[in-house]
Amino acid sequence: MSIQETPVTKNDIVEVEFKDLSHDGAGVAKVEGYTLFVPYGIPGETARVKVVKTKKGYGFGKIIDVLEESEERNTPPCPIFYKCGGCQTQHITYDSQLKFKQKQVKDVMERIGKIDVPIHEVLGMEDPWRYRNKAQVPVGEEGGKIVAGFYQQRSHKIIDMDQCLIQEQENDRVLEVVKGIAEKYGIRAYDERSHRGTLRHVVAKYGKQTKDVMVVLVTKQKDLPNRKNIIRDITKQVPGVKSIVQNINPKRTNVIFGDETRVLWGNDYIYDTIGDIKFAISARSFYQVNPDQTKVLYDQALHYAGLTGEETVIDAYCGIGTISLFLAQKAKKVYGVEIVPEAIEDAKRNAELNGISNAEFEVGEAETIIPMWKKQGIEPDVFVVDPPRKGCDESLLETILEMKPKKVVYVSCNPATLARDLRILEDGGYETKEVQPVDMFPHTTHVECVTWLVRK
Ligand code: SAH
Repeated sequence: MSIQETPVTKNDIVEVEFKDLSHDGAGVAKVEGYTLFVPYGIPGETARVKVVKTKKGYGFGKIIDVLEESEERNTPPCPIFYKCGGCQTQHITYDSQLKFKQKQVKDVMERIGKIDVPIHEVLGMEDPWRYRNKAQVPVGEEGGKIVAGFYQQRSHKIIDMDQCLIQEQENDRVLEVVKGIAEKYGIRAYDERSHRGTLRHVVAKYGKQTKDVMVVLVTKQKDLPNRKNIIRDITKQVPGVKSIVQNINPKRTNVIFGDETRVLWGNDYIYDTIGDIKFAISARSFYQVNPDQTKVLYDQALHYAGLTGEETVIDAYCGIGTISLFLAQKAKKVYGVEIVPEAIEDAKRNAELNGISNAEFEVGEAETIIPMWKKQGIEPDVFVVDPPRKGCDESLLETILEMKPKKVVYVSCNPATLARDLRILEDGGYETKEVQPVDMFPHTTHVECVTWLVRK
């Protein structure tokens, strides 16, 4: 097919009306049946748009001016919103963001899962700002100055950030302090092209309930000149700091963490609490980034699990055991499995910390460990899964079908893989009863869902 066959070509200016939002938050318009994706367009609006790129089946545009503005349009409070790739939807009112997320889940359930099931209204936040307890940002240099912030959209240019409105203020403070220290002691930022320099990423973690702060410096090499001074400055300038950790990543990769972590000062973990349970969190283990909404999410999972105290529960992809320990309070026995060894160490420590003795944890792939449990005669009544974005391994879904738990509670951060996996569970004898989306990530296009399935 030649380029001429698309109704528009690069640099054309067209007037369009936005009909929908794409999964990454762009406005979707049609020109003679041809789809144009236009960042920051809102359904219902008309705009003059410049075509910036065309492909066979669809193209991309850029708004020149909005002719008719939607009531759902919002002035983004963050001054770097249109540059930074961290948020995508600050230009849309919060209520409309929630409606969009609900529709997105509904569309995907129908299109990919072929599932007709009630999708509840998204449970949103009362105050959807300053919610993130973890900042994980690359460090670079621009004009001889240290910069740190998120990457620009679809690029590896770092947008320097003084403050981030979705981040806890304590984490902003850590970034500011570390940037200052790097300047003061002449620590060079790592450059991914030349593979030179030292400081790759700064990671800040904050326990909202405990006010503990962890600072992680990810460096290319182990040697850290001025180590003592750096520690002194951080402990003086960051209130609440309980842990300063160095992670060493010598590889040419865009994976953030390397294999080696060492404590520079304090503990190798910080604490936080969710509900009645206290958690120790270390540098590399996964912990939900929005603690207020995590409580909402776990309460929903607990509700769907419907525990009476007699049940055996499996929690696959358990991280530091957060859901497992939440459920253990109401179950006879919980088995958790997780692939990151440090997370399982945290999970065991967390069980002990809370005096919970009916939870067992094992490190490994869920798809490998759980079939072994099956051979040992473990029979779950309730099966909880909370996989990463790529969803469950197909063999794990088969294991679930063979183990025949009465209920499955599927926690998912990616509606597309959720819908795909639900189809497999439905075909294997389960019925999807309800999907409850929870807004864990306001102002971004991400949406978390808890799904309740029962055996037919
Ligand atoms: N349930 C936890 C963590 C969910 S995130 C919580 O709510 O905090 C998903 C987790 O799955 C991560 O901790 C990741 O390390 C883990 N993981 C990824 N692939 C895995 C696999 N194949 N088997 C077991 N765990 C896996």
